Parts: sequence; structure tokens; C-alpha cells
Amino acid sequence: MSDSNPSIAEAARVLRDARCIVVLTGAGISVESGIPDFRSEGGLWERFPPEDYATVEALHRDPDRVWEFFRELGRGLAAPEPNPAHRALARLERDGRIDAIVTQNIDGLHHRAGSKRIVEVHGSHRELRCERCARREPFVAAYLEPGPAPTCDGCGGLLRPDVVLFGESVEAMDDAAELVEACDCLWVIGTSALVYPVAGLPALASTRGSTVIDCNIESSGIPGAVEVRGAAGSTVPRLAAAVAGNRPEIA
Ligand code: NAD
Repeated sequence: MSDSNPSIAEAARVLRDARCIVVLTGAGISVESGIPDFRSEGGLWERFPPEDYATVEALHRDPDRVWEFFRELGRGLAAPEPNPAHRALARLERDGRIDAIVTQNIDGLHHRAGSKRIVEVHGSHRELRCERCARREPFVAAYLEPGPAPTCDGCGGLLRPDVVLFGESVEAMDDAAELVEACDCLWVIGTSALVYPVAGLPALASTRGSTVIDCNIESSGIPGAVEVRGAAGSTVPRLAAAVAGNRPEIA
């Protein structure tokens, strides 16, 4: 492939040659859908510090207050649509070119794009779960209205989004690690690789001899990764076209 950006050509070659590709996505893949990551300037953590709003202790101490954060988050996740990066990954799965997506995102955009084999390691904000009886229900628009924290119609327990808060265990980690151990290429897209335990997955892939590709607007510093700089909405469809056997203009 002729290419003036050697890293994207190298990444395309790795993806084309791989036997089993697992994708690991973070907040960056959804930025072009209009969902800012939390930690940049103006991000949600500025107004809702995680220690006050995103821990399991905070939820139990003051559920009404933490629900202000859940509602703000829910309003931000209601409108966005999958972008070309989500859609390209869904097409690759349909064509049998990628095996699974492990995502830290709670926005449901991989599902909405049509991907099927998804491990949502931090859960999903599209569903609520009762803290007492574990009954689930959709996070419908009515729950965005201001008011006290909602309770379960069945048992009266506290309802909360089915996401992993700080201080809670990441139960899907075993599934994620199993997928990563089985792949020979881990394709990382839009994650700072700072939030553990998920941030340990690239190192797990490397120790198993797999190649790690890192698509990000800046270096996330994953050791040994083939780094592809640029916005995911542009780099991912171009790489996907290369994997599918097309010859897009890669520059
Ligand atoms: P992060 O905020 O720590 O890092 C985002 C990364 O994306 C950064 O490295 C940034 O350089 C990169 N990035 C930004 N725009 C990009 C683009 N257009 N293309 C490619 N890369 C881009 O995100 P994280 O590592 O996922 O961890 C944050 C935690 O917050 C996660 O655990 C997640 O649960 C949660 N979160 C989820 C969402 C969501 O569901 N959309 C949004 C924000 C935060």
C-alpha cells in the first residue's frame, strides 16, 4: 500500500495479517459523536468530581445528589449517534474480520452501530438496575426529570444506572481478559489507558506476543504499540477499508 503515513500503513498490514482481532475502545471513539471525554477541560469531572459523584460510597451516602450526575450524564448520552468509527467496526465484525469489542464506554453506541459481540466492561447507562433485587429496566427519558433518586417498583430499592462506579468490581474483566488472551492483534481506539483494570489489557496482549495498535489523537504511551495518530472517525474507517481489502487513499 502506498502511504505517506508509515504508521497507518503498518497498522493496516498488521490488521490484514491478523488471525484474531479484538478491539478495545474508550471515550475517544465517541468524541466525534458529540460525547466529550470526562477528563478534558470542561469535561464532566470538572463539575462533578468523581470522588463526590461517581463512587459507590457517594451513591449510598447521598443518592439524590449522585442522581444529579446520572441525569446530566443521561442527557448528554440521549442524542448522540454512532459515528463512522463505530459503523466501520460493526461492518468489520459482520464481515468476520474482527472478533469482539471490549469497550469502556457506557454510551451504547457500538450496539446502536450494529456490533454484536461487545463486552461493556464498565456497564451501560442505557439500563437501570435495582440495588436490592437486581431487577433491570431501561433508562427512559422520564428518569431525566429532576427529583429524588428513583426507586424500584418491585421492591422499593434504589435504582441506579447499570454502570461500574469507582469502588465497584469490574465483573466483565474475566471475559475481556479471555478475549485479549486469545487474539493476536489488540486494536486500541481512543483510550488514555489510565483507568485500571482495563488499562492493563494492552500489556496482557503484549506479554502474549500479540501486536497492539493504538489509534488516538495523541500518544497514550502504550509500550510497543503501533501508534496511529488522528481522530478515530477518520483513521478507523481508513484502516477498516484496508482490512476489508480495499485500497483507500491513505495519506
Ligand atoms: P479517557 O477520557 O481517559 O481518554 C480518552 C482518550 O481518547 C484520550 O487518550 C484522548 O486523547 C483520546 N481521544 C479524544 N478524542 C479522540 C478522537 N476523536 N479520536 C481518537 N482518540 C481521541 O477515556 P477512557 O480511557 O475511556 O476512560 C474514561 C472512563 O470514563 C471510562 O472508564 C468510561 O467508562 C468513562 N467515559 C465513557 C464515555 C462514553 O461512554 N462515551 C465518555 C466519557 C467517559
